[in-house]
Amino acid sequence: MSRLLLSQVRRLLVPQIGLLAQESYLGPMTSVPSRCSSFSWATLVGPEAHVAGCWCEAKGGDRFEVLDPGWGRTLGSVANCGSPEAEAAVLGAHEAFQTWSKTTAKERGRVLQRWYSLMMENEDVLAELITAESGKPLFESRAEVAYAAGFLQWFAEEGRRAYGHVIPASRSDCLMFAVPQPLGVAALITPWNFPAAMITRKAGAALAAGCTVVIKPAEDTPFTALALARLAEAAGLPSGVMSVLPCSRSNAPSMGVLLCRHPLVRKISFTGSTATGKELLRLAAQGVKRVSMELGGLAPFIVFDSADVGAAVKGAIASKFRFSGQTCVCSQRFLIHRRVQEDFLSSLSKAVADFRVGRGSEPETTMGPLINSHALEKVERHVKDALEHGANVVCGGKRHSLGGSFYHPTVLADVTPTMACATEEIFGPLAAVITFDTEEEVLAIANSSPFGLAAYVYSRDLAQVVRIVQGLDVGMVGVNEAAISTVEAPFGGVKESGLGREGSFHGLHEYMNIKYVCYGGLQN
Ligand code: NAP
Repeated sequence: MSRLLLSQVRRLLVPQIGLLAQESYLGPMTSVPSRCSSFSWATLVGPEAHVAGCWCEAKGGDRFEVLDPGWGRTLGSVANCGSPEAEAAVLGAHEAFQTWSKTTAKERGRVLQRWYSLMMENEDVLAELITAESGKPLFESRAEVAYAAGFLQWFAEEGRRAYGHVIPASRSDCLMFAVPQPLGVAALITPWNFPAAMITRKAGAALAAGCTVVIKPAEDTPFTALALARLAEAAGLPSGVMSVLPCSRSNAPSMGVLLCRHPLVRKISFTGSTATGKELLRLAAQGVKRVSMELGGLAPFIVFDSADVGAAVKGAIASKFRFSGQTCVCSQRFLIHRRVQEDFLSSLSKAVADFRVGRGSEPETTMGPLINSHALEKVERHVKDALEHGANVVCGGKRHSLGGSFYHPTVLADVTPTMACATEEIFGPLAAVITFDTEEEVLAIANSSPFGLAAYVYSRDLAQVVRIVQGLDVGMVGVNEAAISTVEAPFGGVKESGLGREGSFHGLHEYMNIKYVCYGGLQN
């Protein structure tokens, strides 16, 4: 199946996104029947931006190239948007808001539901695209498509439950109530590590609430964003309600300034690094805009001596090495009780040895490359720093023979809380193991970070679990469980990991303002 679909991408991407050489990336073209009867790749993926209902090139025909980190080659080129396209998209979104915000939640839900169905019908081809742009293994890309589509389905339903409330009035001649209302145009700025899910988690909520959106995807993954826009259009999303503005890394700051300062943009929702988040917050503050910030993490993964070590190792593998360690909720600091450290380290290194490092598009691959050479160099720097300060390599610790941005899954022992790999976000396949003896000590280490996104606790001592969960300064905790993200649950962090929540019913209210109404003169 995967080979057929890759051929399908090959056949249809080539003329559309201007591959430098057909044999360079996807090999010789073949004619393969499409699984998606209603959509071909020729209509899903193209070089144009989606601006206020139009599919168009950027001003002056400017484009940038998109790379495939697995094969280290150019995948294609795409419109390089800037301020003129952003201005047009915001104006279009503002105009579309006048009608979209007046539709019923049920009508909006129908469109979102159709968009969900179209994503699921095209699950395999979308997964191929995510893998081509991001390098993640195909099975992870498929999981992302389902997760991403799930937000559309969730918010299609949740929009109909955006209740206000009646207030017991403080005066007998008044009726008092509070109603939630869509806040207007929302600018959504998203990262490359979940190129589909980070868009639908925001756009699903915003559209269900009655807002219109302007999306700036990451430079590395614009095609997935554009494919989602094609499907949204096919699902019946009206013109102008959603724009997608691909732009190069060098255009991103000016795009950020325009979106954050534009008087018609009422909300900035950002997922990415804490450094960028702080800059966008500063810009958005001038217009006192609503913001959601889903930022970096430094998740502690705590294993007590009462834990089921086998379950903890399984959780560690899932939470540390998914997408080569490039997720914000990745475990980073492995805090292991001294009494189980040996057992944990030997089981973890055995499990790590089972990884099949390779290109994401190869079916046997269980771990792909890092997104680019900067990411690879960061992991190398962390390993070097740790070894210089007394840590030891249990396994990995070097580049992979595949070259490019491939790195061996790595476990380091004897890490201390002050090393760079314990204080800075690694965003790579490096498990840093720190030993502890007491609950007080482990809580102090876990909370010593300025980040507070996710944490994981493995223990079979119930009272201990409650004490630790209460003491952790984070937005999300997995107890004896590492797969915590789901559309139904509130996702988000505290401290420098962010502001606001996505998913769940909280996600919807991030795109609504409360209007209080005092209806007087009711006395006869
Ligand atoms: P990033 O560099 O901050 O980029 C994120 C997005 O912001 C990209 O679209 C990027 O565009 C754009 N951007 C960068 N500088 C900008 C500026 N000055 N103005 C406007 N836009 C700007 O982050 P990343 O390295 O792509 O993503 C990894 C980070 O995201 C990690 O820290 C990770 O923890 C975090 N993350 C958090 C969550 C969460 O839910 N909390 C989820 C996923 C990832 P370009 O691509 O063109 O640079």
